[in-house]
Amino acid sequence: MATSMASQAAARGLRTATSKHILLDKLKCTWLSPRRWLNLQEYQSKKLMQESGVAVQRFYVADTASEALEAAKRLNAKEIVLKAQILAGGRGKGVFDSGLKGGVHLTKDPAKVGELANKMLGFNLTTKQTPKDGVKVKTVMIAEALDITRETYFAILMDRACNGPVMVGSPQGGMDIEEVAASSPELIFKEVIDILEGVRDDQALRMAANLGFKGPLQRQAADQIKRLYDLFLKVDATQVEVNPLGETPEGQVVCFDAKINFDDNAEFRQKAVFAMDDMTESDPTETEAAKWDLKYIGLDGNIACFVNGAGLAMATCDIIDLHGGKPANFLDLGGGVKERQVYEAFKLLTADPKVEAILVNIFGGIVNCAIIANGITKACRELELKVPLVVRLEGTNVHEAKRILSESGLPITAAENLDDAAKKAVAAIKK
Ligand code: ADP
Ligand code: MG
Repeated sequence: MATSMASQAAARGLRTATSKHILLDKLKCTWLSPRRWLNLQEYQSKKLMQESGVAVQRFYVADTASEALEAAKRLNAKEIVLKAQILAGGRGKGVFDSGLKGGVHLTKDPAKVGELANKMLGFNLTTKQTPKDGVKVKTVMIAEALDITRETYFAILMDRACNGPVMVGSPQGGMDIEEVAASSPELIFKEVIDILEGVRDDQALRMAANLGFKGPLQRQAADQIKRLYDLFLKVDATQVEVNPLGETPEGQVVCFDAKINFDDNAEFRQKAVFAMDDMTESDPTETEAAKWDLKYIGLDGNIACFVNGAGLAMATCDIIDLHGGKPANFLDLGGGVKERQVYEAFKLLTADPKVEAILVNIFGGIVNCAIIANGITKACRELELKVPLVVRLEGTNVHEAKRILSESGLPITAAENLDDAAKKAVAAIKK
């Protein structure tokens, strides 16, 4: 199906952001998507939270089962929770290829922690948010478990429609917040934050009440909300999500899970945060592409797509699909393009053995098509391109670009429009 290609691409590319898309659509907000995705593991996010005085449980991290066992003994807690650290949510309901069910396990027996860690570390955990083969678990978090009487959802995110941060909360946390937004939208509460004023007392208390915190817990929750907002500002986050923000029988409000997204434009002043990015879960091609400010998304087909802008990428994938082809990937060039980037982009695309044809679909708004054309001819010559290349260029300086391509003497197939380009790329493969 045409739409399935785009959604497959979206699911890969926006792996950590898709769920927010759905939620925010319901709230008529827009998701602000950063250029590169710095993702931190839960334990790293919780460290930042601790530093801002947010209530999280005591924890250790371990890379081996024996370290996990040691940590469990050191914790000396009534109950222990062992959590697989991967950059995806839904771990609680995930499955390991070791056969173990659940990426989050509670136990009262520290000895059990070693056994469980043995079935987690080195195995792939598949959840609703991972690729279908899952993600290899290299680290586990060993934390003090607490009884939870109630699980709520709380997040602060940057919202373009409101020109600033908003708080989103629901008394129904722990589970899929998208499901709550779809089935009971009245249980999703929103507070727009004035960036100059910050979170006001009345807003924090109202949100705490909407989350269902009563009596002294309401003030405690409001205090946590304010601390989370301080953290949001301090680390230049675009999102801080706590699901669940829970309540214990002892009357504590605790953040049991943490997901923070960061504004990549703030990297220059958030060196310590960005230094935590280990990239080991990233696709090596995506990582290489990011070095050149290119966004690469790998797919299953055989036509490489070289485009500018995520929307054009989706449209290109869909039209290829419509003509009976399958995209191998897409590489998004973005705005201020340099010739070198075009060259590096081709290097990445041609390094993929699945690729049997390349489709270039560039709409030159900010982009000067002549720069693209020069990059393409240089790449074709230096990389000795072996696969058919179909090029559709439109926009700024396109006549000059077409002249460069046609005078290059290279075997480049020109296309009139996107439909024509897709048809020609699919036909080139069938030959
Ligand atoms: P994910 O969202 O990836 O499934 P969570 O960290 O939210 O992972 O954990 C899933 C569930 O496990 C939570 O909703 C909560 O019920 C339980 N849980 C997590 N941490 C603790 C803890 N420290 N003590 C008790 N229960 C916990
Ligand atoms: Mg969670």
